[in-house]
Amino acid sequence: MTEPASRPVRVRFAPSPTGRLHLGGARTALFNWAFARRHGGRFVLRVEDTDRARNTEESLTSILDSLRWLGLDWDEGPEVGGEHGPYFQSERQGRHREALERGLREGWLYRCFVPLDEVRAQREAARAAKGNWRFDPGSRELDPREAERRAAAGEPHVVRMRVPEGERLVIHDHVRGEVTFDSSEVEDWVVARADGVPTYNFACALDDADMAVTHVIRGEEHLVNTPKQMLVRRFLGLPEPEYAHVPLILGADGRKLSKRTGDTAVEDYRARGYPPEALFNFLALLGFSIDDKTTLFSPDELVRHFELGRIQKGGAVFDPVKLDWMAGEYLRATPTDELARRVLPWMQEAGLVPDEPSAADLERLERVAGAFRERLTLYGELPERARFLYEEVEPDAKAAQALAAPGVAELLQDLLAALEERSEWPPADLPGLVREVAAGRGAKPGAVMKPLRAALTGTLGGPELVEVLDLLGRERSLARLRRALATGARNG
Ligand code: GLU
Repeated sequence: MTEPASRPVRVRFAPSPTGRLHLGGARTALFNWAFARRHGGRFVLRVEDTDRARNTEESLTSILDSLRWLGLDWDEGPEVGGEHGPYFQSERQGRHREALERGLREGWLYRCFVPLDEVRAQREAARAAKGNWRFDPGSRELDPREAERRAAAGEPHVVRMRVPEGERLVIHDHVRGEVTFDSSEVEDWVVARADGVPTYNFACALDDADMAVTHVIRGEEHLVNTPKQMLVRRFLGLPEPEYAHVPLILGADGRKLSKRTGDTAVEDYRARGYPPEALFNFLALLGFSIDDKTTLFSPDELVRHFELGRIQKGGAVFDPVKLDWMAGEYLRATPTDELARRVLPWMQEAGLVPDEPSAADLERLERVAGAFRERLTLYGELPERARFLYEEVEPDAKAAQALAAPGVAELLQDLLAALEERSEWPPADLPGLVREVAAGRGAKPGAVMKPLRAALTGTLGGPELVEVLDLLGRERSLARLRRALATGARNG
């Protein structure tokens, strides 16, 4: 199969602003973007906002923000304009109506006055008889003049397509190979609802052609729509795009990803502090691979290697463990100053860094970010881990236990005295100092390290102790040791 077509590549992502951008939509957008960038083409964003009852402004904002956060920029569409606008489907209705009237005039569309519940009953009866529902010829062949008269008199109706029988519609899908549809299996679908607004399949077929879209890359769930859209273009003599129907994303249970199995809005991942590069990389691998070994790659590398032919046919399994692993990889690869910038909003949200941080706050945050880098997976984990560096914290159960162990008080007392004598901070040879204190009481160094850590951090984990002493500073460190001695540590 040849890619790309001789026409300059134009692809589109066509979200309906009826909810937030979920992983599946983001993956579709990403594949379109990568294909456009690979071929020096155009990535168009078209907002399919004809469902007035379900559209919301927040959804649109959220979708655009999520795309931008992932690094997916569009060449034409909302906010950037372009030569094939308008990019809101609702603003293209003049053109849709024109095509509708032409279809009615030419007879491949017809007005249908049969009430919807009756249609539903017919369809159920056909299904029960294991046949395809075809429209009752009586209503289908209503005299057009009669139909116009009834419509003009305000009688409620929809517009349907008079779907021809027995025609083969063939696509050469870049993912699925040759797919043949039999028009006899396509019902006389609704092209315009009772309020006159065209349905998705009609509007989409026209808009793709009018926007000179060369490749329709979308989820496999839209394969059922393809013959309907092809028929529209065939009746109007409009050019057909090439297709790539990308596989479903499956949850761990092998079924289509849903909220239950982890399908979450991109915004939720952002809010939890996933690095955008990690989600980008992860989404790119849902059904695509550069080769059989490369897992971590940048957007540039993806663009260099992106081919529709490398998209797999079978479902792509969503593996949250892999996503978290990737998040950690990307986070650790982030330079410290950049990491500090990225964690700042979470630290502010947690009240640990002021909304208007001073240069000293930022400098300290950079050191904190550096100290925790190896231990983090998500930006959002830092506030809880690093809280002890900003506020007094109560020791957790394990730390309290370590402090209450017999003999700890003497060891900490000796350590405190030794630290108080030191002028340089953090002390140059902490391990040596700890060894000395331990040996003085016939104990192992661990018997000092553990309660020291517990006293300073309130936990038994965290960065290297020297870093902790450094980040807390001399006064705060010594004060915590004194406090631990006063409250928790027991003499042996
Ligand atoms: N508005 C449709 C959706 O959000 C677009 C489908 C298509 O790409 O054709 O699912």
